[in-house]
Amino acid sequence: MDRRSVLKFILAGLALPTPLMAYASQAVRRVSVSRSASSATLLLELSGPVIASSFTLESPPRVVIDLKQAVLAAPLEGLALDGTPVTAIRSGKTPSGDLRIVLDLADSGVRAKLQPMSGKGHTLQVLLSGQPAQAVASTPAVQAVPERASGKPHRDVLVVIDAGHGGKDPGAVGSKGEQEKIVALQIAKLLAKRIDAQKGYKAKLVRTDDIFIPLRKRAEVAQRLNADLFISVHADAAPRLTASGASVFALSQNGATSSMARWMAERENDADSVGGGLNVKLHKDDPMVAGVLLDMSMNATISTSLDLGHQVLSQLGGVARLHQARVEQAGFAVLKSAAVPSILVETGFISNVNDCQRLHDTRHQRKIAEAIFAGVDGYFRQQPPAGSLIAARARNETA
Ligand SMILES: [Zn+2]
Repeated sequence: MDRRSVLKFILAGLALPTPLMAYASQAVRRVSVSRSASSATLLLELSGPVIASSFTLESPPRVVIDLKQAVLAAPLEGLALDGTPVTAIRSGKTPSGDLRIVLDLADSGVRAKLQPMSGKGHTLQVLLSGQPAQAVASTPAVQAVPERASGKPHRDVLVVIDAGHGGKDPGAVGSKGEQEKIVALQIAKLLAKRIDAQKGYKAKLVRTDDIFIPLRKRAEVAQRLNADLFISVHADAAPRLTASGASVFALSQNGATSSMARWMAERENDADSVGGGLNVKLHKDDPMVAGVLLDMSMNATISTSLDLGHQVLSQLGGVARLHQARVEQAGFAVLKSAAVPSILVETGFISNVNDCQRLHDTRHQRKIAEAIFAGVDGYFRQQPPAGSLIAARARNETA
C-alpha cells in the first residue's frame, strides 16, 4: 500500500536556474477526473511548475496531495466522481501556506501515484488504482466475484521491528557493563520470530547485527516497506536506579505527557549524536516529513499508535511490572517518520539490577516477545488492515 510513500516529484520544466523560482506561486486552473474500468485519474492543470508530494492515510482512508506555494483557482464541486474510488474532494492550506487537496476514499486499498502529463503543459496526474468493488460490479462484462477468487493473494500484516541503538551507540549501560543494544536486539529477534510464526503476519528487522543506524533511517524502513506497524525495542536507564518495569511510548506532536516521557525521548533522540553528531531535528522541509508533522491527520496515526500501544502495554502487564499504567507520549524522533503507526517499547530498565537480570534471561525475553505480539495481534484482529489475510478471516468469521 502506498500509504506513506511521499512521492516527491517535480513537474517537467522545473530545471530552473534559481531555487527561488521553484517557489513562485502557481495556480491550479482546472481540475477534472477521467476513469476507466480499472483506474481513475485526477488531472490538475497548473499555471506553471509546482513541487508536489502525496501520501495516503487510513481511518478514514484518504489521499493527501500537497502543492508547494500553489493556489486553487478552479472549483472542486461537481466533479464526476461516480465509479471512482473517490467519494469527495476537499482543499485547504497547510500551515506553511501550501495548497492541500484531500481525496476522501471509499476503500483503504486505493493507491495514488503522482505523474506529470507529457505534452499537456503543466498538468499533474494523480493516478488512483485499486477500485472499490462497485466499480467492478457495474461493468456488465465482469461478474462480481468474491475477493478470494480474484487471484490477488491476501497480504500479510507487516511489522517492522527496530532493535534500539547498535554499533558505536551502546544505548544504556548497566552496572556491570551490560549494554542495551544487545538486549534490545535479542528481544527484537525473538519478537520477529514470533511474528513470522503466525500465519497472516510478517516481520522485518531494521538491524540484525550490531551496527549503527541513524534514527530517521530506521523509521524510513517502515515507510519504504509500507509497514502496518513500527515497533522500536529498548531497555533504557532511568535517573533513579530503583525505577523498574516496562513502558510503551507513542509520538506526541506537542508536549510530552510526563516529565519521564520527555526525559526518555530526549535520551533516545541523543542516539544520533552518539553516532557521529547527526542532527535528528526534523524540519518541515524534510521531504520525508514534509506536510506530515504539520498535518492534522497525523493525529489519526498517533491515535492508532496509542490504541495499539495500550494493547501491548496491557499484555506486558502480564509478564512484567509496568513502570507506567498508560501509554506515554513525547517527541521521539524514531517514531516521527510517518503515518505508519509507531510505538516504542521500553522492556525494562537496564539501570535497575533486577530488571537487568531478567532482561538477560532468555525465558523472560521470550515472554516479553510473546506479550508484545499478543498486544499487536489483539489490535489487528479488531482493526484488520484492508487486503490482509487477517481481514479476510475476520470477514469469514462474521459472514
Ligand atoms: Zn534506548
